[in-house]
Amino acid sequence: MSEKNWAGNVSYGERKLRRPRTLGELQEHVADAAVVRPLGSRHSFNTIAATPGILVSFDRFTPVMEIDMKSMTVRVTAGVTYGVLGQYLQRHGFALANLASLPHISVSGATATATHGSGDRNGNLATSIASLQLVQANGSLVDVSRGDDDFGGYAVGLGALGVISELTLDIEPTFDVAVSVFENLAWNDLALHLDEITSAAYSVSLFTNWANDTVDQVWLKQRRGRHALHRGAQGGAGEGAEGDDNDDSGAAGLGERFFGTRSATERRHPLPDVAAEACTEQLGLPGAWIDRLPHFRLDFTPSKGDELQSEYLIPREHAIAAFEALRGLAHRITPLLFISEIRTVAADNFWLSTASGRDSVALHFTWKPLGAEVEALLPDLEAALAPFGARPHWGKVFTAGVAEIAPLYDRLPDFTRLAQQVDPGQKFHNDFLRAKVFGA
Ligand SMILES: Cc1cc2nc3c(=O)[nH]c(=O)nc-3n(C[C@H](O)[C@H](O)[C@H](O)COP(=O)(O)OP(=O)(O)OC[C@H]3O[C@@H](n4cnc5c(N)ncnc54)[C@H](O)[C@@H]3O)c2cc1C
Repeated sequence: MSEKNWAGNVSYGERKLRRPRTLGELQEHVADAAVVRPLGSRHSFNTIAATPGILVSFDRFTPVMEIDMKSMTVRVTAGVTYGVLGQYLQRHGFALANLASLPHISVSGATATATHGSGDRNGNLATSIASLQLVQANGSLVDVSRGDDDFGGYAVGLGALGVISELTLDIEPTFDVAVSVFENLAWNDLALHLDEITSAAYSVSLFTNWANDTVDQVWLKQRRGRHALHRGAQGGAGEGAEGDDNDDSGAAGLGERFFGTRSATERRHPLPDVAAEACTEQLGLPGAWIDRLPHFRLDFTPSKGDELQSEYLIPREHAIAAFEALRGLAHRITPLLFISEIRTVAADNFWLSTASGRDSVALHFTWKPLGAEVEALLPDLEAALAPFGARPHWGKVFTAGVAEIAPLYDRLPDFTRLAQQVDPGQKFHNDFLRAKVFGA
């Protein structure tokens, strides 16, 4: 019986699971394997981590987290989750710039697939990587840093260029976030005021089922200056947002109403009719970034649990047309859907990042666990989004193959060249990478 992913829809198919405790053991396992894939916290919904060979889990790997205040970075070993790292940083008065909807995912696995949160000025999670260390096919170590020639390939590496053993991430002084939820935003108002709405807070999420007359919920996560803990840790004085360029507590429009919507009077779950206990605090109550930037709390099951997910990133100039295309398909999408989320992601220059070279709008679908029906719908959904250059999230369910994907990434030939150079024996390849990235 092979290992399964978090959602239970994928079996990894491995011959053997290896669980190294030390870097030396990790290097030996990689060197000895004919075919190998690294595993994070198993939250991807497709076979990106699958292998008929050796699957390397980091669940027993000795965790290291080490802050360097001089370079304002933190060193973190593979397998550590954002939840664990975030709590450690918060205790010491520091923060990461952004997080995904859940803190349960590993830093190494999330950055490898260009996992993102939201925010017009926030890049995906890989943009905080200052450097990384990888175990190469022969077991030797290589360090790659921001500014190195091939860093753009390694930062979102899909596990195809080696096994990341540790990463160094940018950090900043800790800050607070206050989450306010507004309900029933008219589609027309969203079309007229998209830029004002997505820039109204540090991180903005819109939840819809595409069929309703309005977008069900708007989540505005406002950044509130530096957190008191950091001021204490640094020995500094003074209250308020001084010194934080990203502070948006003065942003307009956050009273009881926001573009014709009303603020929710109690906490909300993104899924209709699901109790909000699994969600982080809302109602505008400020709290530490680690307790507000994710939608879901570390000690609860995130999202629905029994579900599938797909997501597509498009250049933000096509957002309104893409919303219309999806609303036109609502009669087919909505019956299979728990909820959709719309977010924004700032452009980066990583070769296989879904936001590479484009300020993006991310169109996310949390599906009911109806694999066959979702698989049947996706070709039509992808065809509807194709005119907008939609790039599928690497860690979620999609049907596009290399023929559709290659034209979306100018630097794909560079990635293929780099993979060939560092892994000529194709030790890190699997069926997913052959079908979606490298070709047969
Ligand atoms: C409930 C839920 C909510 C989600 N919310 C979001 C969201 O808000 N935003 C978003 O963008 N995505 C989201 N996702 C998707 C998720 O973030 C990605 O699939 C992410 O890659 C999962 O990280 P992981 O640690 O589980 O990696 P895994 O799924 O275990 O692995 C993913 C990839 O990373 C590679 N990898 C893992 N470890 C290493 C390593 N040490 N070295 C090299 N490669 C490695 C694997 O080989 C594989 O290719 C969500 C998923 C779930 C289940």
